[in-house]
Amino acid sequence: MDTCIHHNRCVFFNGPAAATKSTKQQYCMNHYADCARFMTFQHIAPDKIPIDLLPNQRVRAAQLISNI
Ligand code: SF4
Repeated sequence: MDTCIHHNRCVFFNGPAAATKSTKQQYCMNHYADCARFMTFQHIAPDKIPIDLLPNQRVRAAQLISNI
């Protein structure tokens, strides 16, 4: 799979590489459709997505989307 289409504007992707390398590999470089941040990009303006929302927090992402 290709790199996530949101990587240029994603705070997580552009954050500290060392702490997130494996997660980037798992989500951003392979299975971005499974990412919580990717989910929110489809529904919420980028500046409204919490900075600390992690790719594995899909329940939290669903709650954010349901509260729109
Ligand atoms: S954290 Fe999610 S939204 Fe951001 S670049 Fe990676 S897969 Fe895309």
